[in-house]
Amino acid sequence: MSSTKPVTVAREIDRLLCEVIALQKDHVEKVCRTCETPCCTRVDRLFDEKDLVFARALDLNGVPSRRRKGKKGCSHLSPTGCLLEPRTRPFTCHRYLCPELKEDMARKDDALVSMLESKFRILEELRGQLLGEFMQIHEKDAFLDIRRRRRETN
Ligand code: SF4
Ligand code: SF4
Repeated sequence: MSSTKPVTVAREIDRLLCEVIALQKDHVEKVCRTCETPCCTRVDRLFDEKDLVFARALDLNGVPSRRRKGKKGCSHLSPTGCLLEPRTRPFTCHRYLCPELKEDMARKDDALVSMLESKFRILEELRGQLLGEFMQIHEKDAFLDIRRRRRETN
């Protein structure tokens, strides 16, 4: 990106994203490991334009360029878990807190879920801001390129 402002917004997203990843880590490791019906086996095509603009703004490596075909559930799921580095996962993967995860969080800290939801709201606003700034400073072709990349990534 040629302007520094989108990068500044993307860095703030990254900072908050790292916070929510850290806040959830212990719970995800504990609860998801024994989950009998993992959400990752029931979803697919989760990357949106905002995820890809974020990755592009920070030159994040690790966002796959091609989806793997012939698999049930998310194409980024492997037998040992998600293949993607946490910061490069679709935002919706961070945002989704299933009831079991929420219960486990509440047992440790009853303010944790509301704290996370508040951070998710800020992240949604920043993601919208980043996409808006990206579209303002880039030619239409750049946005179409992101769209094309979304199809390939998912
Ligand atoms: S988030 Fe919930 S549904 Fe998804 S894998 Fe973890 S425990 Fe299972
Ligand atoms: S990207 Fe990773 S965390 Fe998200 S649904 Fe796919 S396997 Fe699960």
